[in-house]
Amino acid sequence: MSLLVIGSVAFDAIETPFGKTDKIIGGAATFVSLAASYSTKQVKLVAVVGDDFPQSDILTLQEHGIDTEGLQIKQGEKSFFWSGKYNTDLNSRETLVTELNVLADFDPIIPDAYQDCKYLMLGNLTPQIQRLVIQRLVNRPKLIVMDTMNFWMDIALDELLQTIQMVDVLSINDEEARQLSGEYSLVKAARKILALGPKFLIIKKGEHGALLFHKKQIFFCPALPLEDVFDPTGAGDTFAGGFIGHIAATDDISFENLKRAVIHGSAMASFCVEKFGTERLLNLTQEEIQEREKQFGDLVRVEEVLAQ
Ligand code: AMP
Repeated sequence: MSLLVIGSVAFDAIETPFGKTDKIIGGAATFVSLAASYSTKQVKLVAVVGDDFPQSDILTLQEHGIDTEGLQIKQGEKSFFWSGKYNTDLNSRETLVTELNVLADFDPIIPDAYQDCKYLMLGNLTPQIQRLVIQRLVNRPKLIVMDTMNFWMDIALDELLQTIQMVDVLSINDEEARQLSGEYSLVKAARKILALGPKFLIIKKGEHGALLFHKKQIFFCPALPLEDVFDPTGAGDTFAGGFIGHIAATDDISFENLKRAVIHGSAMASFCVEKFGTERLLNLTQEEIQEREKQFGDLVRVEEVLAQ
């Protein structure tokens, strides 16, 4: 089933304890689309870049079967730019620069051919624009997943709350869940956030995995312990892309299938962090992905142990 993805398409400059990059391709929608493209070839992108954005990177997206009809290229303007620096443990980072550039007055035009999308992924972006996309769709998608970050909580909280109210799944990290709810306990935080509107809440905890909340139920999926983590940038978006990609491909929004989607998203994110930026997401095979998912099963299988 077709999946509409909106979010930033960006230049990122990243510094980790293992090295530093100049401007490389990044952005929430880039990671989401690439990750989802391994599940469905019906990914349709709505985003904006400036004329500084390389045609070769747009081609890369197209080569992954991503429809870029909705990617606007603004002549004479600069692409969104984000720069971040990770601390030695790689679990926390500091944003050094956020230059909105073309994002500042982005008008998300949805091509007619995208109107039939059944699934919508609102990648990290101004909450007003995320909401505008929902309003511009003639039919409400079967499932709307939204990702956001502390940046928008700091500068646009009211707008953010209005958008959160309209979505089915909210995906944020633990720090953001605490900021949004004012609760330290993630269980209490989840209860408060679910009361804001979404039916499902995903709290990502970096190398400590992800939690999926629905009513009073909680599902946990660990992150795969990896020997080498190079760059966590985009891991959250890759997780979200894998998650919604799996749901779009299976067209099943049951809680059981959402749990399965969390495992797939976690597997995709485990690849993302192994190299800088999008590099590791460019040439994955289905066999590699299945092998990673199997490793998750081996990691957490407890039934046999309990039965002993
Ligand atoms: P993640 O590591 O999953 O939080 O996502 C990192 C990506 O988010 C980077 O590629 C950035 O370009 C993008 N990003 C950072 N800040 C923002 C923002 N305020 N709005 C939209 N995208 C952002």
